[in-house]
Amino acid sequence: MSLFNNEKSHGIHPPGNKITSNKKIERVPLPKQVILPLSQHIGAPSKAIVKKGDEVKVGQKIAEAGGFVSVPIHSTVSGKVTKVIEMVSSVTSNVGNAIVIEADGKDDWVKIDKPSKPNKLSKKEILNRVKEAGIVGLGGATFPTHVKLQPPPDKKIDTIIINGCECEPFITSDHRLMLEHGEEILKGLEIMMKVLGCNEAYIGIESNKPDAIENMEKIVSESNISGEVIVELLPAQYPMGAEKTLLKRILGMEVPIGGLPMDVGVVVQNVGTLKAIYDAIYDGIPLVERVLTVSGAVKEPKNIISRFGTPASEIIDYCGGTNSNANVMIFGGPMMGIAQISFDTPTTKGTNSILIQKNNTEVEGNCIRCGTCVENCPMNLMPLMYVAYVKKNMYDELKDYWIDNCVECGSCAYGCPANIPLVQYIKVGKAELQKRRPK
Ligand code: SF4
Ligand code: SF4
Repeated sequence: MSLFNNEKSHGIHPPGNKITSNKKIERVPLPKQVILPLSQHIGAPSKAIVKKGDEVKVGQKIAEAGGFVSVPIHSTVSGKVTKVIEMVSSVTSNVGNAIVIEADGKDDWVKIDKPSKPNKLSKKEILNRVKEAGIVGLGGATFPTHVKLQPPPDKKIDTIIINGCECEPFITSDHRLMLEHGEEILKGLEIMMKVLGCNEAYIGIESNKPDAIENMEKIVSESNISGEVIVELLPAQYPMGAEKTLLKRILGMEVPIGGLPMDVGVVVQNVGTLKAIYDAIYDGIPLVERVLTVSGAVKEPKNIISRFGTPASEIIDYCGGTNSNANVMIFGGPMMGIAQISFDTPTTKGTNSILIQKNNTEVEGNCIRCGTCVENCPMNLMPLMYVAYVKKNMYDELKDYWIDNCVECGSCAYGCPANIPLVQYIKVGKAELQKRRPK
């Protein structure tokens, strides 16, 4: 079965609303308190190694990796651990522990272990530093980066694709990174090519970011990076940034059903992750902060850099507060983002955007079998069948319609005349199927 319709390019064109694309990255003031959940990434939650009353510095490890597919967490302020609380995850909605640290306002950093010759680090040393820096995929997926950089021996990686698409409406944090930190991104790519033993890389950028394309082309052409690096102009179409869409568009390759890009010799990485790799390898700095876009119904939409664990309300206040009609806060974009239960929810490693919107009050209707969701699906799936089967609790049937291939991009729900929240049904269906799989 082909995952893609070769005659017609599926996908949608929602309004970009990139109203912050010209806004330079600003640093928000240090928070008075941070709340750092132990589960901020895909894989096993981290394990706390501090307790109430401990004094900590910025960059100090406060939780160890909970397994191979896991990373450590570092304090993002200097101050004192005041408590460990239970909280609902802003990503999974599961309940887990979080470390609360009261900041002393001094911003005292732990002693940084900066390598004297970063270019001379061995592959093993690089992988260890990437893991110890707590780096995960910053495009939103939060998969531990050291794992992605260690494919099984039978999977030789020939090509790296750098995802600079940022196809979700409103979000411009990666766009600004490519304009303001392009050199570091390229150096991060060079490290990745060395670790994976790979000589070919593409930096995929959508056509709605001509200044980023120009900047990255200039930086690549002026660099002495070994191997071939090509800046690839891509059409602005959602979800261009999905890994499988990128592979198809740039390399003309399809990932096998249920497989990963590494199954066809490719690793995809986001531009923000490369900047984090650069920071860890060249400056010895662990992941304690990130760039994110604050947009939608806020008075002053901005791109900001802030420490993880900062309550979103403080960041929104820095952006002038919300407009009067706003009552929903989403972490991420309008297509794949997750609505949060409180404006005080702390940001985590995966928070690439805070989007403020009005609540959608439209009522869900019945499917009229118009086919819009099928037409929109970039994976050539039949989303309406997921709704029908989940409503009847017929979960096994979902496999017959390749639900595991769904990338939860939300294109199917976009334009559904019955206002059906298809992705919610898909998530329920996937979770029920997971429960039924042998452990
Ligand atoms: S777009 Fe909505 S109404 Fe149309 S077929 Fe899909 S689920 Fe049914
Ligand atoms: S959410 Fe899944 S089913 Fe819906 S359009 Fe995206 S890939 Fe297709």
